[in-house]
Amino acid sequence: MKVAIYVRVSTQEQAKEGFSIPAQIESLRAFCKSQSWEIVEEYKEEGKSAKDLDRPKMKKMMSDIKKRKFDLVLVHKLDRLTRSVSDLYELLEYFEKYDVKFRSSTEQYDTTTALGKLFITLVASLAQWERENLAERVKFGIHQMIEEGKRPGGHSPYGYKFEKNFECEIIEEEAKWVKKIFDWYVDGFGYRKISDRLNELKIKPRIANEWNHNTVYGMLRNDIYIGVYRWGEKVVYNNHPAVVSNSLFAKAQQKIKSNHKNLARKGKFPLTGILECGHCNKPMSGLFDKRDNKTYYRCFNCNRSTDGKKITDLLLDEIEKLITSKDYFLKQIDKNYQPQAINVKEVKKKLEVINQQKEKWYSLFLDERNPIPKETLYSKINELNDQEEELKNILLEAEIEEESPEEKYKKLSRIKDIHFVYNEADPFEQKELLQSIFECLTIKRAVGRNMPITLNYKLN
Ligand SMILES: [Zn+2]
Repeated sequence: MKVAIYVRVSTQEQAKEGFSIPAQIESLRAFCKSQSWEIVEEYKEEGKSAKDLDRPKMKKMMSDIKKRKFDLVLVHKLDRLTRSVSDLYELLEYFEKYDVKFRSSTEQYDTTTALGKLFITLVASLAQWERENLAERVKFGIHQMIEEGKRPGGHSPYGYKFEKNFECEIIEEEAKWVKKIFDWYVDGFGYRKISDRLNELKIKPRIANEWNHNTVYGMLRNDIYIGVYRWGEKVVYNNHPAVVSNSLFAKAQQKIKSNHKNLARKGKFPLTGILECGHCNKPMSGLFDKRDNKTYYRCFNCNRSTDGKKITDLLLDEIEKLITSKDYFLKQIDKNYQPQAINVKEVKKKLEVINQQKEKWYSLFLDERNPIPKETLYSKINELNDQEEELKNILLEAEIEEESPEEKYKKLSRIKDIHFVYNEADPFEQKELLQSIFECLTIKRAVGRNMPITLNYKLN
């Protein structure tokens, strides 16, 4: 039997289901093998929905059917082919006209029997019904919104573009600043400081001419940035792609709460985010003590807190040393230099193992006698797909070449007077400067007020 396989993934499904084109092909090939069928054509439709038959590969397949290039069309699931009953009828009639059969590898359809045909119609009707219902629900939402004067019609929040048809797009250029605003706030910068900074950087807000602390506060409170959509009393979670992570958003909310309680938010903490406690390896938080008007960094695990100025002074001296002596810099960077932390060979080996496992699950998946439920196998395969994706990303990262230590030194040595540069900079720039030099910093210190600090770091 000569077989054509047809696979399709819409862009959304690719992200959601993880059952990608290669995975579908793999499973269909295995299926054909088990039936001793010969594959003569593979139609791969990427990023297309099943809403109509106007798809390039579908059209190609139709014309090949006319030429009788194969006897049977095999899909992974019926909905790969179409989700509309009328389209399905049209297709089935077309298949019949040219004496081409149709099968799904995971569902029991056999168009060669009358029962099979009925079954297909039933399932397809159900699918259609589901789809229409979903469309109805979305429509209902939009109507309600129009009534309440919300979107569509209202303006999109900074970072997003909401279309009239409910689709939503992230505006990357803006989303970048949304993330920064959350980061800055969690790092200890106040609303006003942040809005001033945005104005300084000449970042244009959506409507107003300038940023102000209220806009910043409003953004920090807006859970639209984690994908929550609200209108009236209704709330939809995961309505659209998030711009900030849930954990970052939660941190910001916590901070807003605690800041409203205690007003010790004057401190600005350039070291948060890179500074860790050398005793516990926990991140240190910035604190501002009104009594002595000083900034402290504290480890909430062992409760050691250290005067921020003392750390900074020590750090600046160290940076000066790094700048003035290339040998010293190279020694320091070498100390922490790990020759390719990623073992490419090992990752590739793991990928191979995953592929073998996948193969196993696939054959079980296709084996009618196996007692494991398909859903279980499906989720196992998806799990493996996730792992595969992760490993592939690691490989990609490994391919990005790192700057050589010499080049890094050249860059750093452009700074002439680090004490001056640092003290002239505002807290934002200080933070950026430190983050560009250090990947992480730890301090160790015996308990007691004036114990010497030991600094450890990894250069960026
Ligand atoms: Zn600690």
